[in-house]
Amino acid sequence: MAESIECAVIGAGVVGLAVARRLALAGREVVVLEAEKAFGTHTSARNSEVIHAGIYYPTGSLKARLCVAGRKALYRYCADHGVNHKRIGKIIVACDESELPGLEKYRRQAGINGVGDLQVLTADALGKMEPEVRCAAGLLSPSTGIVDSHGLMLSCLGDAEARGASLALASEVVSGRAGNDGIALEVGGADALTLNCKTVVNAAGLRAQAVARSIAGIPPQTIPPAWYAIGHYYTLSGTAPFRRLIYPVARQDWLGVHVTVDLGGQVKFGPDFAWIDRIDYRFDTGRESAFYAAIRRYYPGLKDGALQPGYTGIRPKIAGPGEPMPDFVIQGPREHGVAGLVNLYGIESPGLTASLAIADTVHDLLAA
Ligand SMILES: Cc1cc2nc3c(=O)[nH]c(=O)nc-3n(C[C@H](O)[C@H](O)[C@H](O)COP(=O)(O)OP(=O)(O)OC[C@H]3O[C@@H](n4cnc5c(N)ncnc54)[C@H](O)[C@@H]3O)c2cc1C
Repeated sequence: MAESIECAVIGAGVVGLAVARRLALAGREVVVLEAEKAFGTHTSARNSEVIHAGIYYPTGSLKARLCVAGRKALYRYCADHGVNHKRIGKIIVACDESELPGLEKYRRQAGINGVGDLQVLTADALGKMEPEVRCAAGLLSPSTGIVDSHGLMLSCLGDAEARGASLALASEVVSGRAGNDGIALEVGGADALTLNCKTVVNAAGLRAQAVARSIAGIPPQTIPPAWYAIGHYYTLSGTAPFRRLIYPVARQDWLGVHVTVDLGGQVKFGPDFAWIDRIDYRFDTGRESAFYAAIRRYYPGLKDGALQPGYTGIRPKIAGPGEPMPDFVIQGPREHGVAGLVNLYGIESPGLTASLAIADTVHDLLAA
């Protein structure tokens, strides 16, 4: 069977749903094709749910720009649409004197990125705000928050559906071909069909490269490599010892084992970082002792036996071990030469924060 649609969005994670909403609001006819039986079951359900301020990212990068714009848009959107969220604040801690230059680097980079509200905290001041935290100094980011990511996705989907968009679950895109008159997608599942689309947005997350490779006509040299890096989360039993999110000074490729408090008051530690060679969410309980050691650097009161295995998430990376941290890649026709196609690659953190701003960027690329 063959059908036609103006626009297909591949992937119903937070980015695909935000894109579908934006395109539907612009009056486009949209279908979201999702391989799983529910939306948002991959990276969008396996993250820290933090609304990042935009502190860390390199000057002029898409991550910096879209995080700051996306954060502002997200707070507005959540307030207007009743999506559960909280501007809880975050403190980045230097665990010892050797990490103080790291804090200063963040303060400077944040200013360049347009995040002008960071406050330097002495160990004393920080001790009054977070008595359980031990450190040499800290940086308070008042505009960092937390959000119910499922609620956000549900709301974006609702907005899109109210403008006529539809979500097709269990509808995996298995291949496609790009031609002069659009892109034909082969959609699997019980109601397999060929879908002729004027425009396609590839928001398949961890599988975005595989989807692009399966569409004939996309130049292979424009498709970045796919790498995966798993992160584990442990939960803390008992009452929350912190009021804010606590982050140590980051390593090069991840933000370190940090503290997140979710909207239900549950404290989580993580994610850690390990390269893996396939998408496999299994929890490796052998990581416990490394977690205790990393957390006790700033939370010495952590009791033996207080950590419980939580869940894992996998970062959709486009650069491998030893390579510099890549930016988001948002490719329109100018980059790959296929009219009506946008590919989204490497949408790792801060992709949740940036989702509404990514959606604006995709809309503008297609409008151009
Ligand atoms: C450990 C971790 C912590 C993070 N923490 C934060 C944070 O605190 N704050 C923040 O801003 N960001 C964070 N992020 C980043 C954020 O979670 C992601 O950027 C975001 O969820 C990506 O959404 P997505 O829609 O691109 O991908 P996904 O949520 O993975 O959605 C992609 C969808 O595409 C579908 N799909 C795949 N292949 C096909 C196909 N062939 N046909 C149809 N459908 C297909 C999948 O089933 C999936 O539903 C974190 C990421 C990780 C890994």
